[in-house]
Amino acid sequence: MKCVLEWLERTAEKYPEKIAVEGPQSRCTYAELLERSRRIGSALAAKIDANTPVAVYMEKGIDTVCAFFGIVYAGGFYSQLNPELPPQRLLQIEEVLRAPYILTDRESRPAAAAIFPEALLLCVEELKTAEIDGALLAGARETMLDVDPLYANFTSGSTGVPKGVVVSHRSVLDFIGSFTELFSIGENDRIGNQAPFDFDVSVKDIYSAVAVGATLVIIPRSLFSRPAELLDYLCEKRVTTLVWAVSALCLISTVHGLDYKTPETVNKVLFSGEVMPLRHLRSWMEHLPKAAFVNLYGPTEITCNCTYHRIDRSRDYEAGIPVGRAFPNKQIVLLDDQNRRVTEVGKTGEICVRGSGVALGYYCAKEQTERAFVQNPLNERFRDVLYRTGDLGRFDENGELFFCGRKDFQIKYMGHRIELEEIEKRMSEVPGIERCCCVFDAEKSRLYGFYLGTLDKKELFGTLKTMLPVYMIPGVLKPVESMPMTKNGKIDRKELLRLAKERKGEKNGTT
Ligand code: AMP
Repeated sequence: MKCVLEWLERTAEKYPEKIAVEGPQSRCTYAELLERSRRIGSALAAKIDANTPVAVYMEKGIDTVCAFFGIVYAGGFYSQLNPELPPQRLLQIEEVLRAPYILTDRESRPAAAAIFPEALLLCVEELKTAEIDGALLAGARETMLDVDPLYANFTSGSTGVPKGVVVSHRSVLDFIGSFTELFSIGENDRIGNQAPFDFDVSVKDIYSAVAVGATLVIIPRSLFSRPAELLDYLCEKRVTTLVWAVSALCLISTVHGLDYKTPETVNKVLFSGEVMPLRHLRSWMEHLPKAAFVNLYGPTEITCNCTYHRIDRSRDYEAGIPVGRAFPNKQIVLLDDQNRRVTEVGKTGEICVRGSGVALGYYCAKEQTERAFVQNPLNERFRDVLYRTGDLGRFDENGELFFCGRKDFQIKYMGHRIELEEIEKRMSEVPGIERCCCVFDAEKSRLYGFYLGTLDKKELFGTLKTMLPVYMIPGVLKPVESMPMTKNGKIDRKELLRLAKERKGEKNGTT
């Protein structure tokens, strides 16, 4: 196979009338998904060259999936701009991406026009009724290679600018093939999509469904702040498969949502993104006694996940839940500070990943790409790319990998991957801020922003809201008279964290 379109075409031929994507009010069959994608592709193919990025600015839904496939039919690759993000961040992304067109829908068009006044906007409702131009589509298809990009997903960048992880068809074909097979995802499954489409967890939902002919059930974002309605929806839609972020599962278990209603059709729960708290996992397992549970691990840069661990109901997991073993065609190598391979049981090293899942790099960011996607230091004989995750891990005596935290200042907060330096860079751009530093109290899952400067914290909060997504704004902003420093002249983050813990209970605007 060369590209993901082959999955769509094969499935549309096998199950033309099967529901491909279903939302709260509407649904579309595989035959319709194929046709609309080809129409969008025909309209776009005349406008773009091969491997051109096309941005998609609209809420996730049936049309968004059609837009993704349409862009691929045209020979381009897509990047989802999440309408939830503040305009400044979207502009930063578009500055990196420089997509010649932004595909939007009627509902999102006014907002898109306001944020990107210079951009060429295209409306999906118009494109999906365009004439199919077989010759044009064939031309675009002919030059397509499996190593060409399929999408670019933007993630937090320590330089202050989001990084666009570019992933090829090959990586997705490679990963989703193993993923659906290992976890027996089949045509009878109904996959309940939780993840936003700019987050790579959604890649597993979309492409697993299309690869095997399952149904992708879109769960509207708003339901994640209304757990009872969310559970009603899962039951009503007879969802069988949850490929969810840990934070989303915990959202339900925190409020004991499963006591209100258990979505009994769910037979697979695959979670990822951060360490799953055992108490929450147990609650889910008790309510779904027959379901399979899997811990998935990996960053966007290696295409979704590189290791997995099937939860064993007879094990107590008091020593932690392993992230497990590598997926087929992916290898985990632990490296120490001197780039030597760590093989000893229990010794910690940086988790590095080899294999076809390794992304093509960061879009238009050569230096950052070279820093993270490196030549395997253990191999001087041929080109052998290794992605350095920045995560620390150790193997136990059974060869199972355990996640042991980060080497740097990347955190997971409310399910989002955040580089603390990105918040600091943006915060230091605010007039009136001389210096700042962010620390994260992982125990309490609380983000603190300390700053030197004259600005009132309410004002600072207001300004940050226009620059950063809500989940990146420190819950506590605290002016300080001086920054504590280490002997080496760096801001003393440990001391700040100590101060932060002392100040617990304070919230923006309340003190
Ligand atoms: P993202 O690229 O947003 O998927 O975030 C990837 C990062 O999330 C990884 O590099 C880890 O730091 C963390 N992560 C992902 N999955 C897990 C897991 N199962 N357990 C612990 N941390 C995880």
